[in-house]
Amino acid sequence: MTRSETLFEQAKHSIPGGVNSPVRAFRSVGGSPRFIARAQGAYMWDADGNRLIDYVGSWGPMVAGHAHPEVVAAVQAAAVDGLSYGAPTELEITMAERICAIMPSIEMVRMTSSGTEATMSAIRLARGFTGRNFLVKFEGGYHGHGDSLLVKAGSGALTFGQPSSPGVPAELAQYTLTLDYNNSTQVREVFAARGHEIACIIVEPVSGNMNCIPPVDGFLETLRDVCDQSGAVLIFDEVMTGFRVALGGAQQVYGVKPDITTLGKIIGGGMPVGAFGGRRDIMEHLSPLGAVYQAGTLSGNPIAMTAGLKMLEIISRDDFYPELTSKTTYLLEGLQQVADAAGVPFITQQVGGMFGLFFTTESRIDTYAQVTQCNIQQFNRFFHGMLDRGVYLAPSAYEAGFVSNAHTQADLDETIAIAKDVFASL
Ligand code: PMP
Repeated sequence: MTRSETLFEQAKHSIPGGVNSPVRAFRSVGGSPRFIARAQGAYMWDADGNRLIDYVGSWGPMVAGHAHPEVVAAVQAAAVDGLSYGAPTELEITMAERICAIMPSIEMVRMTSSGTEATMSAIRLARGFTGRNFLVKFEGGYHGHGDSLLVKAGSGALTFGQPSSPGVPAELAQYTLTLDYNNSTQVREVFAARGHEIACIIVEPVSGNMNCIPPVDGFLETLRDVCDQSGAVLIFDEVMTGFRVALGGAQQVYGVKPDITTLGKIIGGGMPVGAFGGRRDIMEHLSPLGAVYQAGTLSGNPIAMTAGLKMLEIISRDDFYPELTSKTTYLLEGLQQVADAAGVPFITQQVGGMFGLFFTTESRIDTYAQVTQCNIQQFNRFFHGMLDRGVYLAPSAYEAGFVSNAHTQADLDETIAIAKDVFASL
């Protein structure tokens, strides 16, 4: 047994499934997860000392690479001044002002400690602001594990939601309408029928939790339009896409302005952070100004703010995003070439520093239904082939991948060379 396998067995005795977040358990790809001992730049080292070129980056936050020296130094310096105060700090103002400057749709922002808290709070705020109960989400969209969001579609667009987890009351799930991502016609139909009852739409503007699926032309614009017509609040969940597809997120790339944006991951530089912000008239409904309650003992934590501010400084430097995007493109072009040479039906999709790998004969993937038709078995074999040779991809065919600016040309070339062997073996 490897040390990782031994640790996994030990973990299962005291941690449900051996992990603190389900996808880490490798259920989707099979096998035993690697336990990580340390990470630096583009690499992680597992408990057996294997070096892995990492394309997960803690599921997104590590856009500048692991243990970035400037972030680590800032956190070390801040730690000696205290780890949490539960009282306001100047750091939080600096953070709020930076976020508002980077994303002009955000006029006021509140910090949380996770993406889940951000989306949960944004939905409560939208419901409180509009006085309506229904929310629209899209199948295959993940917005954290808040009760109203753990709901998937019934078969028809107008059917009431069914909870996708025991523990979510059906009485609550009935308020969640789950539609097809990238289907503007369906959105218009639902809003024509019951737009006056809908509090908000929440959407990943580039879908990253069913692999990587960009919005088709007109989809985000349709969401903006139906919200304008009906008075519903448009929430862009940019927990993944924020500071990833561009400095200003997907709303910058596609030029559509949401009413509320949720953020997480990169904004904390690896510390536990989330945020939600948007139109002033909506945000002013939050407690203590307004009646919609939301709070957090560790919200705006000084260490998390320090790490996040340093990260925002690093990614705001001139060449950060052109470099990140061109590295990602280089990797994907290389993977495509070696897949084609091996005769494996395979395509990639990319927005900025975020990518998707699809084992399919289709020329592009726009829908959840198409993702579920991809060859999962082949992905799983590819995943394990890459992992055995030192490349760490997301352990599921339904996850997006992430490149960091710590990945060097040599890392990308090494990854492509390894993929060449693995494609040939499929
Ligand atoms: N929204 C999106 C788009 C996400 O990708 C995630 C997490 N992957 C979340 C919300 C939830 O964030 P957290 O895991 O920090 O609660």
